[in-house]
Amino acid sequence: QAKMKGRAQICGYEPSMQTQMSWRLEMEQALRLALVEEQLSIAFQPQLDERERVIGGEALMRWHHPRHGWISPEVFIAIAEESDLIVELETWMLDRCCELLSRLPVDVLPRLSVNISVRHFTQPGFVEGLTWVTGTHGIDPARLVVELTESIMIDGVADAVERMRALKRLGVHLALDDFGTGFSSLAYLKSLPLDELKIDRSFVSNLDADGSDAAIVETILSMAQHLGIDVVAEGVENRAQRDFLLMRGCRLFQGFFFHRPMPLEDFERLLAERVGSDAV
Ligand code: C2E
Ligand code: MG
Ligand code: MG
Ligand code: MG
Repeated sequence: QAKMKGRAQICGYEPSMQTQMSWRLEMEQALRLALVEEQLSIAFQPQLDERERVIGGEALMRWHHPRHGWISPEVFIAIAEESDLIVELETWMLDRCCELLSRLPVDVLPRLSVNISVRHFTQPGFVEGLTWVTGTHGIDPARLVVELTESIMIDGVADAVERMRALKRLGVHLALDDFGTGFSSLAYLKSLPLDELKIDRSFVSNLDADGSDAAIVETILSMAQHLGIDVVAEGVENRAQRDFLLMRGCRLFQGFFFHRPMPLEDFERLLAERVGSDAV
């Protein structure tokens, strides 16, 4: 019966508080098992430069539940974030991504972006863990982009900056994900040791329809240029959006217009084509 209700939740009904809690508990247990039973996988969404060359990709976690089927990361990441399970999941993710980076030469796959939850980021030993995993696989940490959200500043900007500096000393690149949806004070931006901003796709998807979203995107781009921070536009779905962004100086793109997230096999094939076509 609980399983039926779990399904109802996924379909968007609103079950009672108690049902929701038992559902979450059940999902958390199922997620722990998923890690052991290899139900988790990683999808890779290519990131492209202004000439549409693949310069990297974002690693996105996937969960195929034996009975419920594919469960959105929006759902299961939130459940994992309620406990240290998120640390286990992302540790697995980091290991897989560093392994891939070690297997593919830098000219085939320059960089890979990984999402790190605030809970994991603030965990004591996070920097040590990253040092270990990049060292074990013998990769240059600069090929790893750690995507953080504005929620890292929830306990104060100073603490977040301190932690980010430790990561910068290791050499990894830092990106601020879903930019514009969180705290969104432009003032703190200059104090963060950031390499990259990712404009949230909600702004990009409204570019054609909403004049104020266009103004926000323009402002983010010009501000980032002044601060010397790269900008990735995420959620680019059509040519008009791409052209708008390109004309205003955006140089990095990610979105369904170019590629959807794909299994490793397809991603590797795409990367091989890229190198093949560059040689011509
Ligand atoms: P995100 O980090 O902002 O990742 C980008 C999301 O936007 C992905 O959704 C991707 O499929 C989607 N997307 C990319 N281009 C387009 C587009 O053109 N149109 C539309 N409609 N969507 C696009 P996905 O894979 O469902 O992941 C959702 C979120 O789950 C991620 O958002 C991220 O916040 C979270 N997530 C996924 N894997 C991890 C993980 O390993 N750790 C953490 N902490 N979060 C993760
Ligand atoms: Mg992301
Ligand atoms: Mg994002
Ligand atoms: Mg997001």
